[in-house]
Amino acid sequence: MLKNKSAIVTGSTSGIGLGIARALAAQGANVMLNGFGDAGAIADLAASLRAEHGVAVAHSAADMARPEQIEAMVAEAAALFGAVDILVNNAGIQHTARVEDFPAERWEQIMAINLSSNFYATRAALPGMQRRGWGRIINIASVHGLVASANKAAYVAAKHGVIGLTKTVALENARGGVTCNAICPGWVLTPLVQRQIDDLAAREGLSPEAARARLLGEKQPSQEFATPEQIGALAVFLCSPGANQIRGAALNVDGGWAAQ
Ligand code: NAD
Repeated sequence: MLKNKSAIVTGSTSGIGLGIARALAAQGANVMLNGFGDAGAIADLAASLRAEHGVAVAHSAADMARPEQIEAMVAEAAALFGAVDILVNNAGIQHTARVEDFPAERWEQIMAINLSSNFYATRAALPGMQRRGWGRIINIASVHGLVASANKAAYVAAKHGVIGLTKTVALENARGGVTCNAICPGWVLTPLVQRQIDDLAAREGLSPEAARARLLGEKQPSQEFATPEQIGALAVFLCSPGANQIRGAALNVDGGWAAQ
């Protein structure tokens, strides 16, 4: 379905971003991976995607906290593939603390990576999409873009901001073939969440299984994690003609979290 289309997926060396990159490559899209990690492991990942799906795959180590690196990444993908048709703004980090204890530098870092990077990448990729009359911008927000939790001030503020940005970009491009939407996952078992499970287990003296069950029990009515594959499947749908009129939406994949 996405043959001859090219995508950038930020933060795709791990977790949800990797699930989305795999799903887009499986549909025939060329993919620019982005994110940190062991160089050999990233090269192996790119090689396996190429071999499995016959698509072009590259990797940019651009830091999503640095606007000039974000712009260079978009330019590099456009030069390499001829276009950036699909932009998935996924890179994100977490830090938990009460507001009065929240370190200012962590606030700034979360704003830069989780929110401002979406703006800089979108601004760089949009003109090409508008010229070609087709584009998909998919922002990986969070259920925390819709509701809050204690101890996550920066993350919740940034993710609410992502949904606001999503709506604005969708409206500015409402006539034409460029759509912009947000996906709002609940708990997905990735390294970002595993760190929160480990912290909870250490803090409360729980086994890993008990900490995992506590985490789900507090928030996610299905009592099951969403998966990177499920988020990837929704991203693929948003790239399909069936999604042409889905614009400015924030779609939960949260086991019922935000329905409560
Ligand atoms: P993860 O920690 O598994 O992966 C994060 C990815 O982002 C990695 O590839 C990492 O290298 C990259 N990254 C981090 N900082 C970066 C930077 N400065 N520049 C470039 N890349 C950077 O996390 P994940 O759980 O897969 O989260 C991905 C996105 O999904 C995030 O935006 C997160 O907020 C969101 N999300 C996750 C969950 C969840 O339960 N896991 C729920 C809702 C939303």
